[in-house]
Amino acid sequence: MKRAAGMAMSKLATLTAAEIAALDRTDPLRARRQLFEIPKGLIYLDGNSLGVLSTAARQRAATVVAEEWGQSLITAWNVHGWMDLPKSVGNRIGALIGAEAEHVVVCDTTSVNIFKLLAAALALRPDRKVILCEQSSFPTDLYMAQGYVGFAAGGAALKTVPAAAVTAALDETIAVLLLSDIDYRSGARRDIKAVTRAAHKAGALVIWDLCHSAGAVPVDLKGAKADFAVGCSYKYLNGGPGAPAYLFVAPQHLAAVHQPLSGWLGHAAPFQFEPDFRPAGGIERMITSTPSVIGLAVLDAALDAFDGVDMGQLRAKSLALADLFHARVSARCRSLKLATPLAPEQRGSQLAYHFEHGYAAIQALIAAGVIGDFRTPDLMRFGFTPLYLSYAEVARAADVLADIIATERYREPQFQVRRKVT
Ligand SMILES: *Cc1c(COP(=O)(O)O)cnc(C)c1O
Repeated sequence: MKRAAGMAMSKLATLTAAEIAALDRTDPLRARRQLFEIPKGLIYLDGNSLGVLSTAARQRAATVVAEEWGQSLITAWNVHGWMDLPKSVGNRIGALIGAEAEHVVVCDTTSVNIFKLLAAALALRPDRKVILCEQSSFPTDLYMAQGYVGFAAGGAALKTVPAAAVTAALDETIAVLLLSDIDYRSGARRDIKAVTRAAHKAGALVIWDLCHSAGAVPVDLKGAKADFAVGCSYKYLNGGPGAPAYLFVAPQHLAAVHQPLSGWLGHAAPFQFEPDFRPAGGIERMITSTPSVIGLAVLDAALDAFDGVDMGQLRAKSLALADLFHARVSARCRSLKLATPLAPEQRGSQLAYHFEHGYAAIQALIAAGVIGDFRTPDLMRFGFTPLYLSYAEVARAADVLADIIATERYREPQFQVRRKVT
């Protein structure tokens, strides 16, 4: 089988249109593209921030609103299985991240779930107080840890260290390490298994933030002996804007885990309406509120696109797409500096480049029909989503970018205006 993976960068940079078309023809995932509704002519390299709409998701949105809600009203909780969605969708996501069945639940948001898991983890390490994070974490992870420390008033502290110092900082004071396996900016990837082992050796627990890995790279929570994980479902999982998040609690912790946002749907018997909280026996104890049914139903349908996908194949294509892009960009754009490590085991499914005029260049790229995004101060990010991107599109995106850089089109005044969401 002919694959871009493993091909030398110099060769990738000079592939002809016919050779690129051949990569697409032999791509084992090529048929998946038809499951999605991507605006014609648009090349979308931002599935790492907001995944695209699938036909199944669009249809399910219509059905859940017009038929289930519209016609069945309150009976839908039972007749359409609404109450089962947090766990059934959780199991589907669990299968993509190597979790045991019945140990992932979909509820709330990533930020809220981080708060719940921080509290749960700290309670399991009563003789320790410190939450360890890397300084360059996605800010909400740091903010939630800061909020938790304030809430715990003396019962918790936050320590932040540079990315390279995380494992060295694991000592007998650390209760829990909260960490992303893939850096949202650079796309650098950590080894979940090795870091978890180091944390456990120091007596600490780990909460993995999988926002940039679920649906993009194979994750094996069970094999890594992971304790906890959280993640959002609107990036590579294509659940739609603000789709509900998931969380994972390992079997060895579930019975002992308590979280402070003990809402009625985490109760052992919500419809007994008892005055005192008693946690549910299973992963439901992590739920706080009434499920966000519309979001869950749409996410459920979006996950159909992963049915039968070999995550190894998906990963191989993700690396190959990124290699193709980088080969062409680096051959033509000397002023861009790659921020992503190129070793396959050290990167996720995105590439990022430092460029002084990065914001304006991304605006010019969007105007030319190629969507990437920008992260302050100077990073241009490009996500590679193997389910719906072709090699031809990625090669074309690289050529459009190279053109914008070479002609300095990013200097045009309309590309300098800063918008609210970058
Ligand atoms: C996208 C992302 C989030 C998002 O959190 P929300 O609560 O969904 O807004 C959190 N952490 C990381 C690492 C992310 O990439």
